[in-house]
Amino acid sequence: MENNHIYETLIIGSGPCGIGCACKLKEAGIDFAVLESYIPGGKINIAPRVDNYPHEFQIPGPDLAMKFVNRLMDLKVPFINKEVISLTKENDLFKVELKDQTILLAKTVLLASGTKERKLGLAKEDEFLGHGISYCAICDGHFFRNKEIVVVGGGNSALKEAIYLSRLASKIYLVHRRNEFRGLNHLVDELKAMGNVEIITPYVPVEILGEEKVEGLTIEHRETGERRTLKVDGFFPLVGQIPNTQFVNIEGVKDESNLIPVNKTMETNCEGLFAGGDILPREIRQIYLAEHDGMVAAKNIILKLRGE
Ligand code: NAP
Repeated sequence: MENNHIYETLIIGSGPCGIGCACKLKEAGIDFAVLESYIPGGKINIAPRVDNYPHEFQIPGPDLAMKFVNRLMDLKVPFINKEVISLTKENDLFKVELKDQTILLAKTVLLASGTKERKLGLAKEDEFLGHGISYCAICDGHFFRNKEIVVVGGGNSALKEAIYLSRLASKIYLVHRRNEFRGLNHLVDELKAMGNVEIITPYVPVEILGEEKVEGLTIEHRETGERRTLKVDGFFPLVGQIPNTQFVNIEGVKDESNLIPVNKTMETNCEGLFAGGDILPREIRQIYLAEHDGMVAAKNIILKLRGE
């Protein structure tokens, strides 16, 4: 189902990058729409707490997401709540195919589609999703009230989710594969100060136990090979993110990690295709950086559309 309308811009993703761009495009009177497969605001909606967004001290993720989304609503930004399954470019126009087979056309596109959770690759990891395995403490933490939970990972996500869960669960095991943490020191200190947390390093998970749901996790010491079994009801594997770029079918745009490199105008090496936020190859991923990317992309999209 091809719609003859040609948008000036389509924004794929409604996290801080997409919203940052949308606000600027709206002010400039550009004909555009925002596409989102999840809920407006993106992943901030499931962050238990955001510590370092300017002017907001330790704000719950859903509250910050609502502030972003209110901007979209106040500006009456056109919003299409559908999943993009393919992005191609033909004859200088971008073709965006949605899951319901609608095809949208645009002169420029901003990729702001963010990331999804990296899997550990263990047996039962997919099968037990929703049966003891979760990637989202704020969504599912209450299922484990007064129960024992294991969180795996040593980055900010694992530390933050473990802190949140420690207020609900009777005991938290935090298992990390190195003795040093990738996440912020103050979060490690905060976690250690919780009375019900045991930090176990350097261990990796090797087997999820249980018949129909999680009943435990076997972990292995990385140097000695010693194994331990943790009897838990909940398992939160938080071992990083992979980019949501599987739908991008334009040659040469993705790097070897499926991330999207850009120049300083946020344009990829495909003319008219811009990208920002967590899908860029960069050292740190922060909400304010994504928002900034969206605004820089907007400025350069406007210049391109005006032929400047
Ligand atoms: P991350 O920073 O990439 O951390 C992933 C963690 O998982 C690392 O500790 C890594 O261990 C471990 N890991 C990776 N693969 C593993 C495997 N196969 N088995 C066991 N452990 C494995 O990911 P993230 O925590 O999701 O954070 C993503 C980005 O969002 C980061 O830039 C982070 O700073 C940012 N973020 C920021 C905040 C904030 O409030 N500032 C909150 C959440 C996220 P190694 O350390 O050994 O590699």
